[in-house]
Amino acid sequence: MLTGLTIVITAGPTWEALDPVRGITNRSSGKMGYAIAEMAALHNAHVILISGPVCLPSPENVTRISIESAQQMYDAVHIQVTMADVFISVAAVADYRPSRVNQQKIKHQGDTLSIELVKTPDIVASVGLLEKDRPFTVGFAAETENIENYARDKLRRKGLDLIAANDVSHPALGFGSDRNDLVLYSKTDRVELGQHSKSALALRLLEEIKSRL
Ligand code: C5P
Repeated sequence: MLTGLTIVITAGPTWEALDPVRGITNRSSGKMGYAIAEMAALHNAHVILISGPVCLPSPENVTRISIESAQQMYDAVHIQVTMADVFISVAAVADYRPSRVNQQKIKHQGDTLSIELVKTPDIVASVGLLEKDRPFTVGFAAETENIENYARDKLRRKGLDLIAANDVSHPALGFGSDRNDLVLYSKTDRVELGQHSKSALALRLLEEIKSRL
């Protein structure tokens, strides 16, 4: 189904270091992104998986590039993406990072400690808004409320062709789970993929992408 296509996928959380032993991260397991990478490779795509720290084995026939921070993910994506037909941004990228990384472990002193955070680059928007060599660009939106409004807003703001939205307030789905429930939005339509295993959803998503290329 995907022979001849190069697909770049980001997956997992990022790790924003505070000092040599501490950092800011999130609960992304990487399962959705890895399921898409595995399914795309099974259907003969050339797959490059740019992954934050996760406890998952690399899928077969996938080139995996391991990174930690949002900036490293941004740099890796921009090296790979000019050759890509499709970019799928599944990673739960940290929106902020500590403004400075302490070279030594921070010692506890008073009762409070303030950490200044600065914005990380928005990776998928930086690809979606490219003027040259722009791949078909797909984002994800994990929301707890107003799912359609937020998803459509991200689609427009980040220059996406498609966005896959899911409700992460549902305890049995989303983060860490093997199942998910996705709705796709494009500028012109809405497709409910429904509740399935992440592998089944990965295949449905790839079919939708292929039909829109
Ligand atoms: O705005 P929000 O973080 O909810 O958007 C989610 C989408 O944006 C996902 O596709 C995610 O991979 C991407 N993203 C990104 N870089 C960021 C933040 C989010 O690529 N710094």
